[in-house]
Amino acid sequence: MKETTPIDTFRHVGLRQKMCANLQKNGITDQRVLNAMQSVPRHWFIDTMLDNQAYQDRAINIDCDQTISRPSTVAKQSQLLDTAEGMQVLEIGTGSGYQAAVLYRMGLKVFSIERQKQLFEQTRRRLNDWGFRVKCFLGDGYQGLTEGDYGLFDRIIITCGASEVPHTLMGQLKIGGRMVIPVGNEGQQMLRITKHGDEQEQWEIEEFGQYNFVPMLKGRNFN
Ligand code: SAH
Repeated sequence: MKETTPIDTFRHVGLRQKMCANLQKNGITDQRVLNAMQSVPRHWFIDTMLDNQAYQDRAINIDCDQTISRPSTVAKQSQLLDTAEGMQVLEIGTGSGYQAAVLYRMGLKVFSIERQKQLFEQTRRRLNDWGFRVKCFLGDGYQGLTEGDYGLFDRIIITCGASEVPHTLMGQLKIGGRMVIPVGNEGQQMLRITKHGDEQEQWEIEEFGQYNFVPMLKGRNFN
């Protein structure tokens, strides 16, 4: 059954305007990020009971003990990706699908991997029913994309906390490509890695402060 598109009221649009004004005040300058976050209704991606929190700058619980990142984190990661329209982007950690929807509205070709079967199935259906053309996969992000033949990615974004930089994933990035990834065990440092060559010495690493993501776990979960 097709999931009906939820409503987006003037009140929600107004709350998003405030949210985006705050993001801008706090250093988000990429207009494509701001436009996408203005256009994607974040309240669609969370429990209706929590609707009144949708446009506050906080992480919100979703199914399977996971969280949808706070808007400022979504904006920051999207801006750090430093994209151009039409680029092919791989996201690890589909979760609610909000980050993927934002990337899609930024004009990117989005591929997203989730390890929790329940989230994968629900979110894939919703994204497609609501018109966000994101290719969703069930799998272990540490392995990257193992199905289909989509070539290398221009950008890779990880939306869970990785204990180390996954080398297999770096192998799926084009030369000149960039990965945005929070790395660390208790709390993570947001890294942007620019791949100037295949050798690890050719990976340029920049740091962008501390974050708290749910962990990036190994293997899939079929429950
Ligand atoms: N981008 C999401 C954030 C969800 S939280 C959003 O906008 O809602 C992070 C997600 O990463 C969780 O759904 C979790 O199940 C998933 N995850 C954790 N480890 C993973 C892995 N190895 N491969 C794929 N997904 C993973």
